[in-house]
Amino acid sequence: MKPTTKWITGALVIAGVIYALSPGPEHLINNPDKWEFREQFVFLTGVSALSLMVLSMVISVRIPWVSRQMQGLDKAYVVHKWTGIFSTLLIVFHWLGEKAPEWLVELGLIPNPGDLEDGSGFSDLEIGLFQSGVALIEFVFYIIIILVIIALVKKIPYHIFRKTHKIFPGIFLLAAYHGATAQLKEHWLTTPGGYLLLVLVAIGVVAAFICLFQRIGASRKITAIVNQVEHHESGILDIRLATQEKPFIHRAGQYAFLRFDHDKEPHPFTIASSGDDPNALRFAIKSLGDFSGNLANCLRVGQPVEVEGPYGEFTFEAPAGRQIWIAGGIGITPFMARLENLANRGGTKQPVDFWYSTRSDQTSQFPDSLENLCRQSGIQFYPLNSTKKQYLTAEMLHQAVGSFANVSIWFCGPPAFAQCLLAGLSAYNFDKRSFYYDDFAMR
Ligand SMILES: Cc1cc2nc3c(=O)[nH]c(=O)nc-3n(C[C@H](O)[C@H](O)[C@H](O)COP(=O)(O)OP(=O)(O)OC[C@H]3O[C@@H](n4cnc5c(N)ncnc54)[C@H](O)[C@@H]3O)c2cc1C
Repeated sequence: MKPTTKWITGALVIAGVIYALSPGPEHLINNPDKWEFREQFVFLTGVSALSLMVLSMVISVRIPWVSRQMQGLDKAYVVHKWTGIFSTLLIVFHWLGEKAPEWLVELGLIPNPGDLEDGSGFSDLEIGLFQSGVALIEFVFYIIIILVIIALVKKIPYHIFRKTHKIFPGIFLLAAYHGATAQLKEHWLTTPGGYLLLVLVAIGVVAAFICLFQRIGASRKITAIVNQVEHHESGILDIRLATQEKPFIHRAGQYAFLRFDHDKEPHPFTIASSGDDPNALRFAIKSLGDFSGNLANCLRVGQPVEVEGPYGEFTFEAPAGRQIWIAGGIGITPFMARLENLANRGGTKQPVDFWYSTRSDQTSQFPDSLENLCRQSGIQFYPLNSTKKQYLTAEMLHQAVGSFANVSIWFCGPPAFAQCLLAGLSAYNFDKRSFYYDDFAMR
């Protein structure tokens, strides 16, 4: 099962258990009428949406154990995106479940059921808490819809998405308040369901405060200093950092979030050095937008950089005996780290075939040392120049390795390139679980 399906199903099962342990099912059995059905539909969609929102909040906190369960932080962000989409759909159903019957009554299409509860059995405090939660959520609903549209429409620039996305933890707190107080309407706190719901809400609230107080990854941050910057002719900035008070322990292929003092936003970059010296870090950064395009003008030797991580599971550890590596453009960075790591250990112990596709000839490819490193590491290297129509195909891979049995493929490059290869590999019944890739798009 894909991580997204697994985690979304898990969150919905938790919601189902909470609901099953609430007074809701009993109310429905005792009073199987359409208004009671509507009432319970609203509760069930509300708890399910809340459960998905809590999962989404927990993923935002970048807890290493959680990311590992989802096959790496980049894949965790895919789960985060889909929990966001599904919770929004449930919120819409929740809202429609509440509103649509009222509209039908107003239009005279169904009879007015009169007062559905008598208000007795509730303290003034319970009524006040419930009503304040309901009043808040109406306005929260519209904000959620706007924020989700901004997140999904890729034409809206990434920096606008990032800024607006930061409102979400605050919005979650308001939704959590509604979730925690709406249950008072049916006396859920007389059952385990009510308390389990409060535990769920509490987990989300803690995660939301960690985001709001900018404590994400706080225990995984170190400070480093820029000690060398080289501008490669391919337009790549080759940056060397020296750690300050603490080393930065990582495995080849992992990545870190870098925050430079001229820009408040942390950006993810693969660590291009092997990790053998945890005090010296190398990053290769290509200009792909506002921040990376401006970096060359702002970087100076001696500048402090906050490094958060490491993250990622693209670490070349797979049961298969033979490996194929494929890099496209700046996707070379995890392979640089692994090559250095292998060269320091006297070379690879398993056969590795490495294709590197760029828009230039080998003479101007980044990094200059690549061919040497491949030779030292015992890796078969195949450079490709896409401007000369040298395109990699599944057939070329098959010809080189003979058979895909016992082969794992490590890919880092444009998503369209990966999709094209996967489509070709399906003709050879290649097991997609042996195709490892770092998803460079976090939206
Ligand atoms: C796991 C991972 C490893 C990466 N490794 C490298 C690398 O080694 N070298 C390299 O040059 N690039 C790498 N990138 C891409 C790099 O993070 C983006 O190019 C950079 O953040 C772009 O920012 P921008 O403002 O210049 O571009 P924009 O035009 O603003 O954004 C372009 C795209 O970059 C991504 N992006 C932008 N800002 C962020 C952010 N703060 N957090 C997450 N994603 C963001 C988004 O997908 C966005 O659509 C990596 C990305 C990921 C996710």
